[in-house]
Amino acid sequence: MKNYRVAVLSGDGIGPEVVNATLHVLKAAEAKTGTYKLDLVSGEAGINAIAKYGTNVPPQTIDMLKTTVACLKGPMTTPEEPGAPPSAAVTIRKLFNLYANVRPCYSLPNMPSLKPNIDLIVVRENTEGLYSGIEFDLTDGIAVAMRIISREASERVAEFSFKLASERRKHLSYVHKANILRRTDGIFNQAVLNVAKKFPEVIIDDYHIDAMAMQLIKQPEAFDVIVTTNLFGDIISDEAAQLVGGLGVTAGANIGENYAMFEPVHGSAPKYTGQNKVNPVATIFAGKMLLDYLGEKDSANIVEKAVFDVLREGTALTYDLGGAAKTSEMAEAIGTKIKEHQTH
Ligand code: NAD
Repeated sequence: MKNYRVAVLSGDGIGPEVVNATLHVLKAAEAKTGTYKLDLVSGEAGINAIAKYGTNVPPQTIDMLKTTVACLKGPMTTPEEPGAPPSAAVTIRKLFNLYANVRPCYSLPNMPSLKPNIDLIVVRENTEGLYSGIEFDLTDGIAVAMRIISREASERVAEFSFKLASERRKHLSYVHKANILRRTDGIFNQAVLNVAKKFPEVIIDDYHIDAMAMQLIKQPEAFDVIVTTNLFGDIISDEAAQLVGGLGVTAGANIGENYAMFEPVHGSAPKYTGQNKVNPVATIFAGKMLLDYLGEKDSANIVEKAVFDVLREGTALTYDLGGAAKTSEMAEAIGTKIKEHQTH
C-alpha cells in the first residue's frame, strides 16, 4: 500500500468548511480505491496565525510542510496593511520554488459556460516576470517595477507545459507581447521554441496577450494548453476560470521540482464564514489535482466523475449553483457517488 504524507492547511474564513468537505471526498476515494493511504497532517496558517505567531505561515508549519510531499491549501485572508506578511500562498510558492501555476478550466455539467466544450489549462510562470517583487522609486512621482525574464525559468515552465500538452490534445499556445517587450518576451519565446524541438508531436502557435484575451472569449474551445509569463498568466487564468463558471468551481496547482500545492481559486469569502453554505467543488477539484499529482489517476478520475454526476443530477447543489444544499451535504452527495462508483 502506498502512503503519501500530505499537509493540510485549512486556512480561514470559509477555508475550514471547504477543506473539511474535500477531506470527506478524499477519504471516500481512498476507501474506494484501497491501494494507497493519505497520511494527512494539519498545520496552522492564515490570518488567525498572525495574532498568535506574528506571521501567517509560522515556522512550525514550515517545518511540517517540509516533511510532506504536497499540500492541500484552503483559502486564506491576505492582510493588506503596510508591513503585513505576504500572502501564505506566495510564501509557500517561494519556499518550495513552485514555478508552474496550473489552472485547468473545463465546461461542467449544468454549469453556465461560455461554450459547452471548453477544456483548457493555463500554465503561468510563477517565479519571475513583473511579479519579481523588485520595485523602486526612480525619483519623486516616478517608480519602476522590474520585469525579469530568464531563459532558465522560461525553459523550465515551457518543458512542464509541453509535457502536459503531449499527454493531452498535443496543442500548445504560448502568449507574449514580443512586439513591444522585445527583449524579455524575446527570451521567453525563444525558450519555448528551444523546448519545442524535444516535443515534435505537439503543435504550437502563439498569440499576443491582448489577442489571447479576445480569443478566449471568441473561441475558448480551440485551446488546449496555454503557457505564459507571470502577470499575463495571472490575468488570463482568471478570465479562463470565468468562462466555465468561475470561482466556486475552479482550482489551481502550484508545482515545483519536488513539491506541489493545491488550492481553490476563490478566497476566504469572510462574510460566509461558519455558515456551511459555500460551494466546495473548487477545493474538491484541488484535491482531485493532488491525487493526479501523486499518480493516483484512477482515484482522481473517480472524484471528478462523482462531482460531474452530482452537478448533472442537480439535487445537492449549493446556493451559488441555484440549490439549497449545505457545503457538507454537497460533499456527502459526492462521497456517496464515489462509494457507488462501479469499476469496470
Ligand atoms: P473571495 O473569492 O473570497 O469572495 C468573493 C465572492 O465570491 C464571495 O463573497 C462569494 O460571493 C463568492 N465566493 C467565493 N468563494 C465561493 C464559494 N466557494 N462558493 C460560493 N461563492 C463563493 O474574494 P475576496 O472577497 O476578494 O477575498 C477575500 C479574501 O480572500 C481576501 O483577503 C483575499 O486576499 C483572499 N484571497 C485568498 C486567496 C487564496 O488563499 N488562494 C485567493 C483569493 C483571495
